[in-house]
Amino acid sequence: MSRSVLVTGGNRGIGLAIARAFAEAGDKVAVTYRSGEPPAGLFGVKCDITDAEQVDQAFKEVEAEQGPVEVLVANAGVTKDTLLLRMSEEDFTSVLDTNLTGAFRVVKRASKLMMRARKGRVVLISSVVGLTGSPGQANYAASKAGLVGFARSLARELGPRNITVNVVAPGFVDTDMTAVLSDERRAEIVAGVPLGRYADPAEIASTVRFLSSDEAAYITGAVIPVDGGLGMGH
Ligand code: NDP
Repeated sequence: MSRSVLVTGGNRGIGLAIARAFAEAGDKVAVTYRSGEPPAGLFGVKCDITDAEQVDQAFKEVEAEQGPVEVLVANAGVTKDTLLLRMSEEDFTSVLDTNLTGAFRVVKRASKLMMRARKGRVVLISSVVGLTGSPGQANYAASKAGLVGFARSLARELGPRNITVNVVAPGFVDTDMTAVLSDERRAEIVAGVPLGRYADPAEIASTVRFLSSDEAAYITGAVIPVDGGLGMGH
């Protein structure tokens, strides 16, 4: 069964791994990208998720190309790490605007046609730090924790329409986002991970695919950690 899938921020990192996993399974996959070129072999739509008009336009293009979105993965996200006293209001609100309000914009847009179709799968990419906290990441952790309340509210609201809404909470994953961390910080992080390593993006993708599959039809409102044991189930 080939479904219409949209992954935000699917041009690199975890989003790209998720998009490729769906494509390999035979789904029709679109990704959003902000600049440069879309990844080879995937349908790319230019979209900054902080702009509701761009989100609407992107959905129109995806719907014309591959039909209404049946599986939405809200993956796009940013960090602007600094300690609280140095964190400007803009550092805080811009991270919230992308990571949390951005998810609101895309899920709201997707839910219209999912409700009409009486089926749909939504997966939000949160983070272990949204559940455990992280010094220097108050903005990011707040945005990622916010996704949990957002998802669980929607799981209740949209469940009667046969739409599941789940959260995946990765630990540390090898991508551009974590490439900026110093070797010392990386070693500290790995020391706290029972499995003793970072995740490969494909390991996040396989969980997202499972949550979007028929096998996961009775899972909604869940937060699934994929963190090598770092959060111990939180
Ligand atoms: P990357 O920095 O490698 O990629 C981030 C992606 O988000 C890019 O595709 C980027 O697009 C997109 N993006 C950012 N802002 C916007 C925006 N305003 N509009 C549209 N797209 C945007 O990050 P990762 O792949 O590592 O992270 C993906 C998700 O996983 C994020 O939500 C992140 O918070 C989460 N995560 C990552 C972890 C990790 O260890 N890497 C751990 C836990 C969670 P562009 O290329 O145009 O900049």
